Formats: sequence, C-alpha cells, structure tokens
Amino acid sequence: MEGVAGLFDVHVHLFPPEVTCEIERYTTEDVFLHSICNSKGHKYATVEDLLQSMAKNGVAMAAVSGFAANDQGLCRLMNDYVLEAARCYPGRLLPMAVVSPGRPGVEAEIRRARDGGAAGVGELFPWGQGFPLDGKEASKLAGICREGRLPLLLHVNENVGHRYTGKGDISVKEAALFAAANPDQDIIYAHWGGGLLFYELMPELQRQLQRVYYDTAAGPFLYDQKIYLVAREIGVLSRLLLGSDYPLLAPLRYRREMEAAGLTATEVEMVCGENARRLFFRTEEHMHVD
Ligand SMILES: [Zn+2]
Repeated sequence: MEGVAGLFDVHVHLFPPEVTCEIERYTTEDVFLHSICNSKGHKYATVEDLLQSMAKNGVAMAAVSGFAANDQGLCRLMNDYVLEAARCYPGRLLPMAVVSPGRPGVEAEIRRARDGGAAGVGELFPWGQGFPLDGKEASKLAGICREGRLPLLLHVNENVGHRYTGKGDISVKEAALFAAANPDQDIIYAHWGGGLLFYELMPELQRQLQRVYYDTAAGPFLYDQKIYLVAREIGVLSRLLLGSDYPLLAPLRYRREMEAAGLTATEVEMVCGENARRLFFRTEEHMHVD
C-alpha cells in the first residue's frame, strides 16, 4: 500500500464547497482573502479532490487547513469542514485550525477546534490578516497554542524578489523575533520561512530557532532546487517539512526536486515524512495535559 510509507504533506488548503460557490459574498469585506481568491492560478479543492490527489501523489497523510479569513465566523466554517473531513478519514487527514487573531473569540475557537481534533493552528497570515508578529494578538496566540501544545503554521515570505498575490511585508526579521520571544512554541514557517533558514548560519539565530520548522510550500516558484543542498549544509534538514500548498502544486513535484537536487533517500524520507511525524505525534501525546 502506498499509504504506509507515503509522504506527509503539512501544507494543504481545502475550501468548503458551500463557501466556494458563494465566494464573492463571503469575501466582499475581506480584502486579502478576496485578492487571493481572485488571483491567477488560485484553485479550490474539496476533500474528495484532495483524496484523489493523495492517491496519485503517494501522500499518506496531509495536515489540512481551510483558509484563514478576517471574519471569525468564516474561520469557524473552514474549521468545521476540515474537522469533519478528518473525522471521516482518521489517520490520513490531520486538521489544522484557522482563526482571526485580531478579532474576538480566538481562544474559544482554538479550544473548540482542539476538542474537535485539531492538531495545530494555521496557516495564518500575519500580514494579510493584519496581526503583526510583534503585537499583542500574536503573543496571545502563541500563549494559547503553547498551552494546547499546538504547532503554529504561519505564512511568511521573502522581502526581496518578484511580486505575487499574498506577498506581504512580514518577513525574516519579524519571524526571527517572534520565534525568539516564544522559544517553547513549535512554529512552522511556511514558504521556507521567507529565507529565515539562511540566517541559521548565525550562531545566535541557530540557538533561537530550535523549535522553528520550515515548509517547502511554493518553493518551485521561488527558489532553485539547490536550496535543498543549502538546507543540508546549514544543518536544518531535520526541521524541514514537505508542504505542497496543494492545490497550488502537487506534492510529487517537490519530491522530484529533492531527488534531482541530490538529497539521499534517507534525507528525502526525513523531509517528506519523518520530521512531520515527530513534530505532530510527539505533540499529540501531550495534548490533553491541561
Ligand atoms: Zn502561505
């Protein structure tokens, strides 16, 4: 069975069909989400689409997020969809909760999602959702996640290079400070942490970023595949996680890049599965300690 030693994809987005079919109505007051949904190449995926893609790509497990909105009620709808999906496919889908950190009800929604099986929080968009990483909302969010032993998946991006929808001003500096301020929190910085991994060549950053993981999401659009060898050289392969950003890109494309770049089979297995299992299942053992 391909499901046994298959890939573990930590960055997957699902959209509840009832939201997709009325997307204009749902996003009229959410400038960021509206711009994402109207960007070129944006796709919507349902649970059924994802399961087909998982079979095709040899993905054994996917950590699934809705899409973080500014409206807490819309976040709740997104969460309901992924929580229900994960209940239907236990052991294959791991639900992540999205919230709007700048609006009331964050703690209640994270607790509700955790009680419903959520294994983490994210992907959240500090820039798009308007909560700076050095602000009160972000520090409160980190406290709630720490208490619930929930890894936090955050979108950050490079602060140089080409423009694209969703690219904002929160980058390596903010990400490094947030990690340093929350040393006991497991953080996954999406999209290679906007390049934060390169700064792990600085000894003090290396020390401060021990609980930081990086995912590979959208990597083929951003970096030469040599980045995998650079990550090995820097010493962060044990904290690198396969994230496809499905339905944007297929997971196999990443695996092929890793292999073509020259990672060994053992290293590919670490990045594509072992690291994520260590992160999520170690966390789960402690989840119900209150
Ligand atoms: Zn992202």
